[in-house]
Amino acid sequence: MANETMKIPQATAKRLPLYYRFLKNLHSSGKQRVSSAELSEAVKVDSATIRRDFSYFGALGKKGYGYNVNYLLTFFRKTLDQDELTKVALIGVGNLGTAFLNYNFYKNNNTRIELAFDVDSDKVDTKIGDVPIFHLDDLEEKVVAENIQVAILTVPSVHAQTITDRLVASNIKAILNFTPARLNIPASIRVHHIDLAVELQSLVYFLKHYPMNQENESE
Ligand code: ATP
Repeated sequence: MANETMKIPQATAKRLPLYYRFLKNLHSSGKQRVSSAELSEAVKVDSATIRRDFSYFGALGKKGYGYNVNYLLTFFRKTLDQDELTKVALIGVGNLGTAFLNYNFYKNNNTRIELAFDVDSDKVDTKIGDVPIFHLDDLEEKVVAENIQVAILTVPSVHAQTITDRLVASNIKAILNFTPARLNIPASIRVHHIDLAVELQSLVYFLKHYPMNQENESE
């Protein structure tokens, strides 16, 4: 990862892909500059936060001019390692897993699901989109051979920990965990946990208990 990223606060780093996507769209529509107000409206982050975020990138917007779109895009591309492909494996080709394989993050240049694994003989040795599905027995061998760095877990939660242990032993660097299971992992491995059921419940809770137009949760 680029050195610059190390100095950027995590909250800022999390917003980078959001900014990047919007700036790419601006660039393809031929725009060469953008104000923090326009950005703020588009990505729903307040403009003071945007200005602070961008100051970490060395992008100092000029009054009445805004930010140079090309400069920002070059910076983001480097910082987000857009030129370098990170290979991803998906484990558990159920309803959610199938949706990810079909989607396969085609709008990101730098991440691609290369392999999928399941134990269901109806799914093993088939393909979804371009992604071949292998038996879980082949996990370690394929992950190492293909230099897979990231895994998406969409298996039933009872299997999440055993599979995680096998992934760790295969030198995986990060896991995107869609199961409700809390995983035990070495500190050197990054796990992001997305529990869709909890997210939905929390959204409904906020909907019921907090009036609208209060400040949105931004992180
Ligand atoms: P479906 O309707 O296809 O079963 P689902 O998302 O409701 O989808 P789950 O029971 O959550 O099904 O299982 C998700 C996927 O994980 C299934 O394709 C299942 O075959 C697979 N699976 C179950 N156990 C394992 C395991 N130990 N390793 C890998 N994949 C597994």
